[in-house]
Amino acid sequence: MASNIRTRLTPLDEDGKPLVRNYVFDQAAHQNLPQKVIFWDETLRDGEQTPGLFFTVDEKVEIAKMLDDLGVGIMDVGIPVVSKKEFEACKAISREGTHNTVILAASRALKGDIDACVDAGAQETSIFIAVSDLHLKYKLKMTREQCIKAAVDAIEYAKERGIERCFVTEDTVRADLDFVAELYNAAIDAGAKRAVICDTVGVCTPSTAKWFVREFKKRVKPIQLSWHGHNDFGMAVANSLAAVEEGVEIPHGCINGIGERAGNASLEEMVVALEVLYGKDTGIKIEKVFEVSKRIEELTGIPLATQKPLVGTNAYSHESGIHTHGVLKHTLTYEPIMPEMIGRTREFVFGKHTGTTSVEEKLKDNKVAASPEQVKELTELIKVAAEGKTKADYAEYIREYHEREHLRRGVSDKEFWQLARRAGIEHNV
Ligand code: MN
Repeated sequence: MASNIRTRLTPLDEDGKPLVRNYVFDQAAHQNLPQKVIFWDETLRDGEQTPGLFFTVDEKVEIAKMLDDLGVGIMDVGIPVVSKKEFEACKAISREGTHNTVILAASRALKGDIDACVDAGAQETSIFIAVSDLHLKYKLKMTREQCIKAAVDAIEYAKERGIERCFVTEDTVRADLDFVAELYNAAIDAGAKRAVICDTVGVCTPSTAKWFVREFKKRVKPIQLSWHGHNDFGMAVANSLAAVEEGVEIPHGCINGIGERAGNASLEEMVVALEVLYGKDTGIKIEKVFEVSKRIEELTGIPLATQKPLVGTNAYSHESGIHTHGVLKHTLTYEPIMPEMIGRTREFVFGKHTGTTSVEEKLKDNKVAASPEQVKELTELIKVAAEGKTKADYAEYIREYHEREHLRRGVSDKEFWQLARRAGIEHNV
């Protein structure tokens, strides 16, 4: 099965060699890759924490089914203690059950949170607590000793309640490493079965992520490792893959990279990168990646960036005459992988940079005959027409887009003050 997927993913050149593989496979950087990579999806928890976003119970059930079918190993379905609806959604997902995916729900290091996970039918709970001095001092107002006690008590309680446990520390990479190790070792002794390292505010680079995982492993008892990365500097996917290169088995991700602030690591980018650039059989049905991404786009109302890797409108579009000519002769010239592999097709755009080859090709496709002179003339007309377009609608499109983007997020300012009046608060401007 593995070789099958690999052949599909790395189209062959004329000598029968997969091109991508020539350059990046089997290098020293990949020597610590885990045997198996398990994807932990966060779309329903961290993803839903995107400002202004919420999923209904039915939507959560639909997304859970989609993720299960896609083949993710673990999915965080939410924090059941958050609200009645959240609890109901977790319970509905558990009731439906899954074929491939462990149903996990999150809890703070509090008994009530853990009870809610158990009552909602989750198979596993991720118990989280902040570990950096910054978070302990300003957010939790806890000493390090209190933090360890809260974590150990919670893990032991979860064990008593008979639910699988993993232990998560918020802001791990900005915490004192010795304390991180002390806390995790205590958590492992208390019965945590996986450890999640979090780059909560996305400040790692691939090299610091690798360093952190190496140092963590030196100090912490052997345990299955997971990495939770944010995209504040645009490095979430790179950092997560760097962590995997150091032996982390369970990277976290969200479909389309949604999540708090600039989002989480994009699950689909990690999956396809591991398949194509690392030659890993991830067990994910990658031919469904685009379909899943588009459905999440609809359900979140968050449009995919035009140039988003793999799933953005432009990821398989070509305009330039040089590139179009190349792709028409052999797709690998200007495409790293075939769009069909993730359920997409390529597109040729006609504009200022169009060359005669794509014009010829379009005419041929439509069974329309034309002389070379006519093709040349049409190409010129296309260039002139494209460059003659007004930019007024660009400005209008951007304005309208941002206006609607703002209105869609949570309650508006106007609604806020209407609700405040209902709560008896007067706003005197
Ligand atoms: Mn997060």
